[in-house]
Amino acid sequence: MSNQEDRLKTLIGHAKEYGFVFPSSEIYDGLSATYDYGPYGVELKNNIRRYWWEAMTRLNANIVGLDAAIFMHPTVWKASGHVDAFNDPLIDNKDSKKRYRADVLLEEHIAKYEDKIAKEVEKGKKRFAEGFDEVQFRATNPNVKRAQDRIDAVEGRMKTALEANDLEAVRQLIIDEEIKCPMSGTANWTEVRQFNLMFATELGSVSGESSTIYLRPETAQGIFVNFLNVQKSARMKIPFGIAQTGKAFRNEIVARQFVFRMREFEQMEMQFFVKPGTEMEWYESWKAKRIAWHKALGMPEENYRFHDHIKLAHYANAASDIEFKFPMGFKELEGIHSRTDFDLKQHEEFSGKKLRYFDSETNESYVPYVVETSIGLDRMFLAVLSAAYQEEKLENGEERVVLRIPAPLAPVKIAVLPLIKKDGLPEKARAIIDSLKLDHNCQYDDKDSIGKRYRRQDAIGTPYCITVDHDTLTDDAVTIRDRDTMQQERVKIAELSKVVSAKVDMRGLLGKL
Ligand code: ATP
Repeated sequence: MSNQEDRLKTLIGHAKEYGFVFPSSEIYDGLSATYDYGPYGVELKNNIRRYWWEAMTRLNANIVGLDAAIFMHPTVWKASGHVDAFNDPLIDNKDSKKRYRADVLLEEHIAKYEDKIAKEVEKGKKRFAEGFDEVQFRATNPNVKRAQDRIDAVEGRMKTALEANDLEAVRQLIIDEEIKCPMSGTANWTEVRQFNLMFATELGSVSGESSTIYLRPETAQGIFVNFLNVQKSARMKIPFGIAQTGKAFRNEIVARQFVFRMREFEQMEMQFFVKPGTEMEWYESWKAKRIAWHKALGMPEENYRFHDHIKLAHYANAASDIEFKFPMGFKELEGIHSRTDFDLKQHEEFSGKKLRYFDSETNESYVPYVVETSIGLDRMFLAVLSAAYQEEKLENGEERVVLRIPAPLAPVKIAVLPLIKKDGLPEKARAIIDSLKLDHNCQYDDKDSIGKRYRRQDAIGTPYCITVDHDTLTDDAVTIRDRDTMQQERVKIAELSKVVSAKVDMRGLLGKL
């Protein structure tokens, strides 16, 4: 098993054992690519959602929220292009009978060349030490240049083939590049076919009266069709944005990699409506704002990179992904797209209703352009969990698994631990929880040794453990232990809330934006 698979497996095991994520319907052997969030998982997920929501709506006076229904009128998906064009190219290996996304096979192939380049650059860094000039090295090193030429050639052919919807050319590229199935190791491929990703169901119970409706594959369309409702009711002036979080559904061809790719998942999307011609400025500004949102979390900076799309979706005039270094390598975490006026124009045409903005200052009316930011909540969850997970050797020779989750996102903020289960210590501990619980999510634990209790809290990422001992009864002070440094200090109970808040409050995070 590869190192990457090992890391992902370890994470999946930890997430299950410690109540973050369970396979769905596990007692029936699970349902592929569907997961349930456990007691700590749901807290982490809610905290990520809140961080996103407040960064969008509270910190931007010109962004308001919406919660649209999952079901929408079927014509919405005709207008948006999803009925005709929301397809992935699929390919099967005839020997292993495994199914793949043809574009993903090619992207992973390109990633191998990128790895080669990264290794050469590392070698160069070591060899030239101080005098290393990365730009020059990349431009002149023959191995790097050869790999980069291969990347450019494959990307070029892939772009042309996908844009022309030439599936035979996509297949030919896979064959020419000698891409093999990781399971069977052969290049015995079927032809490439298009596969629509939307789930369909029936509306209405009387036969003959029913009609096909879809589970939404993205939340964005609920925002587009409500554009005027929101603009008028909230008296918004362009530029303004509408933010929404909610479930989306896609019948993914290859749904592996834990909560990274699921058939039911949650999106956090914001559509920003701007004057035509200004969209590129806003596109750049949202790219900058979104990467700042990620970096404020303090997770390692080298885990992020931008990746500009080589094949633009039918609606976009610019698109970039924020990629994150997941256990399986760099993958898309968030998309920032300049969607032009495509969606609103399509809805005007299909609904016969005007979707225009009247600018009272210039007396003109126009269909706005849209810049959107779209992030998967579950992918963000996996990003946080995978960056947080660490196995550490301690000075005393013991080992601990610690989740260094950014403190404001941690599921439990404070664990209150009475040293022993008698002498009034449990009662004192519960009284402390009562004084803190309106501000923070607290947990009480009196089972096992203090060391074991610390380990349990480290494993779920609790930033602070508070120990109540006999002295507490007389000096009204407790020992507070920091998850990351494991340092302990004595703090007055009256000071506790302030000490803890400084690190765990969401305001610290939002204040950095
Ligand atoms: P991919 O190329 O990985 O399939 P995409 O480009 O189709 O993703 P978008 O349509 O841009 O994704 O969706 C916006 C965001 O929604 C993505 O950046 C991702 O975080 C999330 N997302 C998309 N599909 C899934 C899925 N199947 N499971 C979990 N999250 C998803």
